[in-house]
Amino acid sequence: MTGTKQLGNFTPEDAPEYGDVLQCMRCGFCLPTCPTFSLTGRERSSPRGRVALARAVSEGKLEFNQAMKEEAYFCLDCRACTTACPSGVKAGEVMEICRAQAHQQQPLPKWQSVFRNFILQKMLPSPDLLETSMLPARLYQKLGIQWLVRNSKILKLAPAWIDKAEGMIPEMHQPLRQQIPQFSPATTEKRGTVAFFLGCVMTLMYAEVSRQTVRVLNHQGYDVITPKEQKCCGAPHLTEGDRETTRTLATHNLDLFMKLDVDAIVTDCAGCGSALKEYEEILAERQDHNRLEHFRHKIKDISEFLVEVGIRTEGLKPVNKVVTYHEPCHLCHAQGITKQPREAIQSIPGIELREMDESSWCCGSAATFSLKFTEESQKILDRKLNNVKKTEADVLITANPGCHLQLAWGLRQAEMPQPVLHLSELLGEATPD
Ligand code: SF4
Ligand code: SF4
Repeated sequence: MTGTKQLGNFTPEDAPEYGDVLQCMRCGFCLPTCPTFSLTGRERSSPRGRVALARAVSEGKLEFNQAMKEEAYFCLDCRACTTACPSGVKAGEVMEICRAQAHQQQPLPKWQSVFRNFILQKMLPSPDLLETSMLPARLYQKLGIQWLVRNSKILKLAPAWIDKAEGMIPEMHQPLRQQIPQFSPATTEKRGTVAFFLGCVMTLMYAEVSRQTVRVLNHQGYDVITPKEQKCCGAPHLTEGDRETTRTLATHNLDLFMKLDVDAIVTDCAGCGSALKEYEEILAERQDHNRLEHFRHKIKDISEFLVEVGIRTEGLKPVNKVVTYHEPCHLCHAQGITKQPREAIQSIPGIELREMDESSWCCGSAATFSLKFTEESQKILDRKLNNVKKTEADVLITANPGCHLQLAWGLRQAEMPQPVLHLSELLGEATPD
């Protein structure tokens, strides 16, 4: 996906491959699937338009200009266009690469660049530092400052993204990485051993989800190894155009997990799963191809893994609820996993899965998109919430922390009654102690 040769007006480091932008035959099948095209009606904000911009830069007909940079960041990287494209064009990934180009060609002002580099290159790669950085948020909640801030409505005076970011913070607990045992044994007849990739947002914000993932795997007959030395998967760095730090993190995680004798490497975070599966491509120039392929085949989303090995349903407790399922883009479009979460939900006795319209339409979260483009993100979210409402389901299920944060916030704002649960939490409810 990325080349190292000079290509038109792209710099050689991390430029798109010419073949990838040449593939577009301008059929337009992708247009109705693109949330930013649907919002704006603007060709340049469509997959076809974005690829045309990248092609013009790669052919030297266009400078890497402000419009190119804006479109690279305005793309949600939801990959819905990839699912729709008959030519295999990956407009979202091309735009991800263009973000790396934006940082090379149009560097940020000094202070912004120092801040960005600190977050991406120091804080995210260090689990200890990352966990320490959450302490103020925990104190903010524990000391009742959050209650005061929310009730004073003072945040209505702040920029919209600050108000939203504050409103999205879930109840914070001790990070899970410090508490989760390195080894959790199977609690029923043993079927095998898996490694668990514990994503950063999961350990910091949704510890209960990952606790349930391990519990469910143990009850399904798997020993679970959770290496404490694992680091961020590198997905935030891809999103922010820092591909070199992704490579460093990918090399670390690859070496760590490949030492383990396990049947699979399971994750409950769609974004992490997608990034881990992309190591094959990200490290293609630096690692042995067979090793990367082997790693790629071991990475499994929790639903993908359970359905592949067969869910043991004997002993599961009934959960008498109507649920609806929002498909995370990085699960359905980036990994092609659509049937497995539904099959896992329907394996629970008593559950009714009621499909929503446009279940695979983005929720508007898309990493930092929801804070950078608050208005557009809200419009995308409103469309999703309307579809949730029409189902009259009791619970909204999803499988990615970014979607979880955005949907839970949106439902609260809209005063809708549905709680948001991760699939693992639902499976956990059905799993006996
Ligand atoms: S990106 Fe794919 S679907 Fe969209 S216009 Fe090009 S070839 Fe057609
Ligand atoms: S990744 Fe999503 S937002 Fe970006 S061009 Fe494709 S469909 Fe549009």
